[in-house]
Amino acid sequence: MGAKFHLPAALAQRPRPGILVSACLAGDRVRYDGTDKALPDLMPLLESHLRVQRLCPEVAAGLGVPRPPVQWVESGHDQRLLGVEDSSLRVDPALQQVADDWCQKGSDIVCGILKARSPSCGSGTTPIYDTAGKVIRMADGLFAREIKRQRGICVIDESFFCHRQAGHWFILGCYLANDDSIPDELAGLLGWQGDLEQFLSTAPNQQSIRLEACSAEGK
Ligand code: SF4
Repeated sequence: MGAKFHLPAALAQRPRPGILVSACLAGDRVRYDGTDKALPDLMPLLESHLRVQRLCPEVAAGLGVPRPPVQWVESGHDQRLLGVEDSSLRVDPALQQVADDWCQKGSDIVCGILKARSPSCGSGTTPIYDTAGKVIRMADGLFAREIKRQRGICVIDESFFCHRQAGHWFILGCYLANDDSIPDELAGLLGWQGDLEQFLSTAPNQQSIRLEACSAEGK
């Protein structure tokens, strides 16, 4: 994740924002095949500045590890999350319950970093198949869809962190989204417009310049 990151002083005293991370990205071996998709450089950085909640929706739904892989199958207006090898296995009702329960808890999560392409966690990257096994489009996984729809939570995936210093930018965005009383001059310096998704979308551009300016100001 590049050079050591120091949170601007104006933010360091604020409450730590909460984020949600797919457990497999956080290093837990919870994927269908018993592996993880750990981001070893990123997690220590995030955990040193944010409150990180890990969750595997499929494990929470009682599907176990290892478990049969599942995929979305669409037929007309009907969409079901079915076993890849055994289409009599249907898991979307159990996952829907997990998502509804999580959304009703009313946690103060400002953003989710959820695994791309997963039928549960993908955000706009999850393949939807027709009954012949052909991909017909990409959509949200069930859990990602519900936390966006029910709670308005911003969801990104691991590809965001390919950019240099993207982790730093992400942390700043979480603090800005979490606290309305951030000084206007700091928010303005960082280009904050009040929308986390929009703010994160600017990350690949000029972030180093902005961060250096922020440090120089001693903010
Ligand atoms: S992508 Fe989501 S559902 Fe799949 S293993 Fe990771 S946390 Fe669990």
